[in-house]
Amino acid sequence: MRARILGSPTMLVVGLSFEEAHAKTRRRGGFDEQSYENPAVSAPLREFFYFGTIAPFAQRNYYKEAVDKLKVLAKEFRREYGGTKADYQIRCNSQIPEKPIAVACGLGSMGRNDLVIMPKDTNNSGGSNFIIAMMHLPFALPGDPPLDWDPCKRCQAPCQEACPTKALDASRGKINLEKCIQWWASGHNIDKPVPEELKAVWGKRFYGCTNCQDACVHNKAGQAAYIDCKKILAMTDDEINALFKGTAIGMKWLGPAAIRRNAEIVCKNQKALDSGP
Ligand code: SF4
Ligand code: SF4
Repeated sequence: MRARILGSPTMLVVGLSFEEAHAKTRRRGGFDEQSYENPAVSAPLREFFYFGTIAPFAQRNYYKEAVDKLKVLAKEFRREYGGTKADYQIRCNSQIPEKPIAVACGLGSMGRNDLVIMPKDTNNSGGSNFIIAMMHLPFALPGDPPLDWDPCKRCQAPCQEACPTKALDASRGKINLEKCIQWWASGHNIDKPVPEELKAVWGKRFYGCTNCQDACVHNKAGQAAYIDCKKILAMTDDEINALFKGTAIGMKWLGPAAIRRNAEIVCKNQKALDSGP
């Protein structure tokens, strides 16, 4: 976990890389209690059983892991410097504009894939596969300066090429959200139908489009886990909530309607594969 200080208001801003954690989890041979993967189903069979993919960033609740780490720090800070619990508010995946804050305090720089990219550290860890979390501090500290680093210098932008919907603009940090599969998969515009041209290239993604991350020269691509989307379509809201309780997919902003919408697109796309030549 890398940390920087934002000067005013004083905030501790951290980047929790999930690239290594994801690789370790897979090396251990599975996803334990948070597993969605059915190892009994071999890869070719997944094509026929309405299996959708779950991207590495959603296979564990890294948001909760980042918050838990900050809670431990908050306790230590309170013991050392005083203050109430409310003085050390923690934010992660909230409405706060996380990316500009992370850039302002030098955690990373904006890439053309519209993500904050961290430079490699001494452990060779960097890139954009990380969770941003932050904690308010009730005392003044000098802020860290923004980085003088362009992660995209001399890069031919394979991220833009890899985007199946061409949602990434050629200029820095510009994304057409309405063309982004991940934006729709996260439950945005839940009352509107997903545009047909997006569904056509959505493929098997149940949760998480990572093409623009995987193609980035600063990242190592992780492996997807699988979930039976047909089963999800047969579930009630309560059953869906119970299935994903405590996981990244079970977090408040998504909900059964969005989960069902994703599963339905996967099933339709997979059915199209089934009836292929
Ligand atoms: S998440 Fe997917 S659809 Fe969205 S910009 Fe990246 S590659 Fe394109
Ligand atoms: S692939 Fe290249 S252009 Fe795209 S975000 Fe990564 S470094 Fe920047």
